[in-house]
Amino acid sequence: MKTIALIAHDGKKAEMVGFVKDHIAFLSKAKLVATGTTGSYVKQTGLDVELKLSGPKGGDAQIAALAAEGKIDGIIFFRDPLGKHPHEPDIQMLMRICDLYNVPLATNPATGSLIIEGLLD
Ligand code: PGA
Repeated sequence: MKTIALIAHDGKKAEMVGFVKDHIAFLSKAKLVATGTTGSYVKQTGLDVELKLSGPKGGDAQIAALAAEGKIDGIIFFRDPLGKHPHEPDIQMLMRICDLYNVPLATNPATGSLIIEGLLD
């Protein structure tokens, strides 16, 4: 079973819910982990999601730790390019960890779809 992490900034949460619905066949067979608020939105689709802390409270860092431990197959991280974020250092750290450990990371729906296609059995 693949493990997929989901994170969306506030301006991108609706887009994340739409993305999850568009890929529900794959995601319903995956183990999902998400930052707190994103995960609670995604749960409204009926999928089971393991909730981490909210992003600004350390959730991005928790997901980065899982990535460093080899426990995540792909991360869908819809950043809001127009927003400012108090946890910017954590965001940069998550992206660095993905590069360090070669973990697929999508920061927009187009790339997210490609990652999911690539992970299909
Ligand atoms: P959230 O965190 O899902 O708890 O809102 C996402 C983020 O801002 O990194």
